[in-house]
Amino acid sequence: MPKTISIIGGGAAGFFSAINIAKKNPSYRITIYEASNNLLSKVLISGGGRCNVTNTISDPKVLVNNYPRGFDFLGSVFNKFTTLDTQKWFTKHGVNLKTESDGRVFPATDSSETIYKCLYQNCIELGVNIKLKHRLIDLTFNQGRWHLKFKEQHESSDIAILATGINSGIIRLLEKLSIPIIQPVPSLFTFNSKNHKQLNLSGISVSNALVSINELPNRTENGSLLITHWGYSGPSILKLSSWLAFDIEKLNYDFNLSINWNSYDLKSLEKRLFLNVINNPKQKVRNWNEHGLPKRLWQQLFDSTGFKDYVNWSEIGKKGIDKLISILTKYEVRILGKTTYKEEFVTAGGINLGAVDVNSFSIKNHSNLYAVGELLNIDAVTGGFNFQAAWSGAYILSEHLSNMH
Ligand SMILES: Cc1cc2nc3c(=O)[nH]c(=O)nc-3n(C[C@H](O)[C@H](O)[C@H](O)COP(=O)(O)OP(=O)(O)OC[C@H]3O[C@@H](n4cnc5c(N)ncnc54)[C@H](O)[C@@H]3O)c2cc1C
Repeated sequence: MPKTISIIGGGAAGFFSAINIAKKNPSYRITIYEASNNLLSKVLISGGGRCNVTNTISDPKVLVNNYPRGFDFLGSVFNKFTTLDTQKWFTKHGVNLKTESDGRVFPATDSSETIYKCLYQNCIELGVNIKLKHRLIDLTFNQGRWHLKFKEQHESSDIAILATGINSGIIRLLEKLSIPIIQPVPSLFTFNSKNHKQLNLSGISVSNALVSINELPNRTENGSLLITHWGYSGPSILKLSSWLAFDIEKLNYDFNLSINWNSYDLKSLEKRLFLNVINNPKQKVRNWNEHGLPKRLWQQLFDSTGFKDYVNWSEIGKKGIDKLISILTKYEVRILGKTTYKEEFVTAGGINLGAVDVNSFSIKNHSNLYAVGELLNIDAVTGGFNFQAAWSGAYILSEHLSNMH
């Protein structure tokens, strides 16, 4: 009898598992069960409709630094299937890729439909069955087989692969199977600050900010920062939201954001400002233009110090310089709440990686049960790294199943 495999979840991890298993083991009978009426829906909306499939960072030791959850686990995973393998895989399967200057890799068409079509058509050509509107509501192991309960029917198979992402139904099911989980929290979000003092600067961005959270001083992130009408966004904020996802949740999304607007080094900034006192005593401070910031931002920051427009460098004094340093390097904003970043958001938490065999993605203490993708306690900052974790896990799982054959 050929082995039967049930894959629960028709997303990136489910499809990539199905294709790679089917290629290596043509005799396996594989079925993808998808709860909704749509396949690969996150792939389609990913990367703003362009699908950032992976990144050019390929050295596993460097690559893992993009994963706030999973970096210890993923080292050996990426040794087996890294970002280069992803690029080769998609190219071999007819998808031309292009790389942007920041290392993100997209289909050359700039359309996530290209990735959708590649995954879907390969599944169909390989004879994978796909069943829509099949939400798994219970999973039990009996007499060497997995029994799957859906709303209207039951199925069973030799092997079950969970690729559902995280939702409350699947968490209940995992708890019932005594599979340890880390309770999920959102990651990759932007910070809300209703009626903040820089509303008139919405749309302005700086390229080299340093951001941190006063209540969580051990983490600082660097990168672009965007002022929006609802608060603060941009890569530096997203990275902070990702690395501190669990701590920020504990703060109930109520905290003080601290911004160093141009990653200024305190000592050299102080020196530069005092040099102005010596070299340009009669020049207005407001007209200073060596701050490296958009002019409107500098003027708003200057105005917020309360200095008169006409104050010049000879009049500002030590206290004044300290005030400028503070506003430039420790600008504080009260944050209350979060907003989902439309390009990419993920869930931190999921199956505790201690319960997962890193060489096979099987769930320890359960026969022939596997889990891949976002359902695991693995998540990354933006840049194609979340999909990469799904591709790598699914590939390793497929290799393991073909070795078992
Ligand atoms: C807006 C947005 C943009 C993104 N852009 C990017 C990007 O450009 N690059 C990147 O690397 N990452 C991106 N991500 C993250 C990436 O999409 C996810 O990490 C990835 O899709 C996870 O794949 P998955 O297969 O594990 O889960 P999912 O894609 O969530 O797929 C899980 C599937 O399982 C189904 N399912 C759930 N429960 C059940 C059940 N009980 N029974 C049956 N089926 C079930 C779901 O309906 C779903 O179809 C983005 C995320 C979002 C939300």
